[in-house]
Amino acid sequence: MPEQKITKILYDYKLEEFVKRLEELQNPSVYYVSDLIYCPWKRYFRLRFPYLTFTFEPLAVMGELVHRGLQGILVEKGFQPEYEVSRTIRVNNEEVIIKGRIDAYKPGELVEIKTSRGSTDSLPYPHHLLQVKLYMELTNVEKATLIYVSSDKIIEYDVKLDEPVLEKLLQETMNLSVAPRWDWECRSCVFYKICPHRINK
Ligand code: SF4
Repeated sequence: MPEQKITKILYDYKLEEFVKRLEELQNPSVYYVSDLIYCPWKRYFRLRFPYLTFTFEPLAVMGELVHRGLQGILVEKGFQPEYEVSRTIRVNNEEVIIKGRIDAYKPGELVEIKTSRGSTDSLPYPHHLLQVKLYMELTNVEKATLIYVSSDKIIEYDVKLDEPVLEKLLQETMNLSVAPRWDWECRSCVFYKICPHRINK
């Protein structure tokens, strides 16, 4: 029987990362950029059932490895990987912290890296564009690149921030006023089995 030594190293690494963030994942004042681009009910459930969000999927592991590789190359071009952004704002008489982690950043420029498994015909995906726009708004950066790496394509897009998106997305998330945000979301949602708002698409 193989020892699966490397798989265990990968698993322990992912689990350690998750455990480190566990407290913050349950902080009701923290809104991640990723909370704002998906169904608001995912955040609602995550605050209550954080352990349901731990996954160890080969696709996610592969995505992380691609990120690490490209980030390593971009570091040589002056970018900082996993650049953390955080802003505290007051909304509806409540103080909230918006947090995000940009794949690669240097003053005046940012890069968001995505891996894609399915058809690349409909790229760039709207939620990814929203994510990059949120980073642009949070950093005041005007030059942003969204790059997709798939098995048959490497394609990148320049993203423009035509109008601010943060406030609208934050209000929708705080008020749980959309469910889901995208019609494909429920079928891959970890909260599908406990969510009364799920749709079958
Ligand atoms: S199952 Fe659908 S509506 Fe419910 S939390 Fe997930 S994405 Fe949102």
